[in-house]
Amino acid sequence: MVRKEIIIRSGETVLKGKNRKFFEDKLLSDLHRVLKPMGILKMFKKHNRVYIPVNHDNHQKMIERLKHVFGVDLISIASVVEKDIEVIKSAALQEMKEVKALKKIKTFKVESKRTDKNYPIGSLELSRLVGGFLLHSFDDLEVDVHHPDVTIYVEVKEEAYIFTDREKGIGGLPKGSNGQAMLLLSGGIDSPVAGWMVAKRGVLLKAVHFHSYPYTSERAYDKVVELAERMSAYCGSIQLFSVNLLPFQQAIADTCPESEGTILVRRMMTRIAEKLADENKCDALITGESLGQVASQTIQSIRVTTEVATLPILRPLIAMDKQDIIEVAKMIKTYKTSILPYEDCCTVFLPQKPVTKPRVDKIKKSEEMLDIEKLTEELYNSMEMQWIKSESKEDLLWET
Ligand code: ATP
Ligand code: MG
Repeated sequence: MVRKEIIIRSGETVLKGKNRKFFEDKLLSDLHRVLKPMGILKMFKKHNRVYIPVNHDNHQKMIERLKHVFGVDLISIASVVEKDIEVIKSAALQEMKEVKALKKIKTFKVESKRTDKNYPIGSLELSRLVGGFLLHSFDDLEVDVHHPDVTIYVEVKEEAYIFTDREKGIGGLPKGSNGQAMLLLSGGIDSPVAGWMVAKRGVLLKAVHFHSYPYTSERAYDKVVELAERMSAYCGSIQLFSVNLLPFQQAIADTCPESEGTILVRRMMTRIAEKLADENKCDALITGESLGQVASQTIQSIRVTTEVATLPILRPLIAMDKQDIIEVAKMIKTYKTSILPYEDCCTVFLPQKPVTKPRVDKIKKSEEMLDIEKLTEELYNSMEMQWIKSESKEDLLWET
C-alpha cells in the first residue's frame, strides 16, 4: 500500500515574517489538540508546511478535525513514493482516479518541483512526462495550464510527493496567536457566531453568561454550556463564567422606568464583563450585537452601552444580516442548540415598550437611584466558573 502523508498549508501564517515561528508553534499545538485524541502524535514542520503521517485508514476523520483548526488553509493527502518515474506516474494516475471519483473534472495540469537537485529529471520535464501519461490514460481529460479543474503536484525531495488541493481548511490565524478576549455569551444564535469569528483571527476566548436563576432554568444554563462545548471544537478549552443578574433586575424593577430595563441591564453586563476581562488578561469584549436587530441594538443604544466600557468592544456581526449569521451558525454547528426554546435573562422583566433611542444623561439619572457600585460588586462576587473542555465531548463535537 502506498504511504500517505497529510500536508497542511497555512497562507497568512507564512506571511508573518520574523514572527513566523511563534505562529507556527501555535498552529502545531492546535493541530495536536485535535489529533491527539485519535492517537496521532507525530507531525513535522518543514518549509512552511506541516506534514502528518497517516498510518491508519482514517484520514477522512483526520481531515474533518483539521477543518476545525484556525490557520489551516489547505489540506492535501499526498502519496509518498520512491523517486522512480514509473512509480511517480502510477501514483499520479491513482490520485487522478480518486479526484475523478469525487468531482467532475475536464481539465488538469501537473506542477512539479524538484528540491533534490541530484534528481536527473528537471521539473518541466517531470510535468511533461506525468502530464503526458495522464492525458494518455484518460480519454475525457485535457490540459489547461491557466484554469485547470485540478492541479496534480509532483514534488521530488528525499522521496516523491504526489497530491492535489483536496480540501479547503477554515483559514484564519492560529489559536492564541492574537491575545485573549471576553465573549458575552447568551443562549441565542448571534453570540456564538460572534465569538467564533473573533477566535478565527487567533484570539483565545473566555466567556461570561448572565442568567436570572431561578427565573431562568438550569436547562437554559445547560444550553449555554452546550454552545460553549460546540465552540470549543474550534476554540479549544473555554473558561465559562456565569453571573446571576436577578438582584440587579429586581432593583431596577423597583426603582427605574420600565422602558429602560433592557438598556440598564446591558450597561451592567458590560461593566461586569469588563471587570472580569481585566482580571483575566483579556484586552477586549466581544458581543453578538447587530445594528438595528432589536431595541437594545439601535445605534443610540449601542452608544449608551459602550459609554460604560473602557476596553474595546468587538462586534463582528454589527453589519451582518440575520440570515447570513444563521448560515455561519449552521456551519459551526451551534444553530440547533441556539434555537432550543429556553428562556433568557433578558426575557425576564422584558419591558412592554423598551426605549429605542436612549440618552446617556437620562440613563445615568436612573442609575443614580440605584447603588450601582455596590450592586456591581455584589453580582461580581456571586460569580461562578467552569472549564469547558473539548476533549470531554468527543462524540458531540465530531459527529458528522
Ligand atoms: P444572541 O442571539 O446572541 O442572544 P440577540 O439578538 O438575542 O443575540 P440581545 O439579546 O440583544 O441579542 O443580545 C445582544 C448581545 O448581548 C448578545 O449577542 C450577547 O453578546 C450579549 N448578551 C445578551 N444576553 C446575554 C446573556 N444573558 N449573557 C451574556 N451575554 C448576553
Ligand atoms: Mg440574546
